[in-house]
Amino acid sequence: MSSRTPLIAGNWKMHKTGSQAVQAANQLKNLINGVTGVEVMIAPPFTALYPVAQALKGSRIAVGAQNLHWEQQGAFTGEISSEMLVDAGCSHVIIGHSERRQLFGETDAGVNRKIQAALSAKLIPVFCIGETEAQRENGDTFSVLDKQVRDGLLGFAFDDLTGLVVAYEPVWAIGTGKTATREQAQEAHQFIRSLLDKLLGNPFASSVRILYGGSVKPDNVRALMEMPDVDGALVGGASLDPETFSKLVSFNH
Ligand code: PEP
Repeated sequence: MSSRTPLIAGNWKMHKTGSQAVQAANQLKNLINGVTGVEVMIAPPFTALYPVAQALKGSRIAVGAQNLHWEQQGAFTGEISSEMLVDAGCSHVIIGHSERRQLFGETDAGVNRKIQAALSAKLIPVFCIGETEAQRENGDTFSVLDKQVRDGLLGFAFDDLTGLVVAYEPVWAIGTGKTATREQAQEAHQFIRSLLDKLLGNPFASSVRILYGGSVKPDNVRALMEMPDVDGALVGGASLDPETFSKLVSFNH
């Protein structure tokens, strides 16, 4: 395991109403009371952000959004700005999730603008990258990751990116039950960290947290977390049930 404080983050996607989300957040808060040495973040849907943030006020569970728009305000029907997320109680925002890229046409250039917007508002971006199954089978994993990192972080200096979290999420492992082996995860994380070293320098690369995402479950989390460049997990399905998610958070206990 790395010396960086691990972050276990739950992406609730389009699940839970406001009251269901508050109930789950309160349950989680009680379940992980006493678990130390790990940071925790949950990302409920937009409509649940404010009540969940209120319920978690003063707790150690951070609240994140699943997306944002890069403009601060204006005629962008259906969009949400960084300022709105901060006002709702968010400290984090997931950017460039593969579902946004694949289902909603999000591009590396858009991801770059969203990271900029998040950082300007002092939100911590959880910047998602990852290859599809076809790209892996073609031997393109590293070139895909290289482009996503370079384009997503284009124009930033290391000190602009303080706090940024990277999430490596192989698309073929998301919601499929197929987890990358811990060796596959480590290989990708090591590649990403050395690329960040080249682009932004060693102090940034050695301190940035790189999460693994893709069918992380209580029975595989520990093995993944033992790898030197795996600094936490971004969890979809297994984050919805507070009991299950609390087991992931306490992987080290
Ligand atoms: C995700 O969507 O970020 C994710 C990792 O999902 P799951 O854990 O369900 O594979």
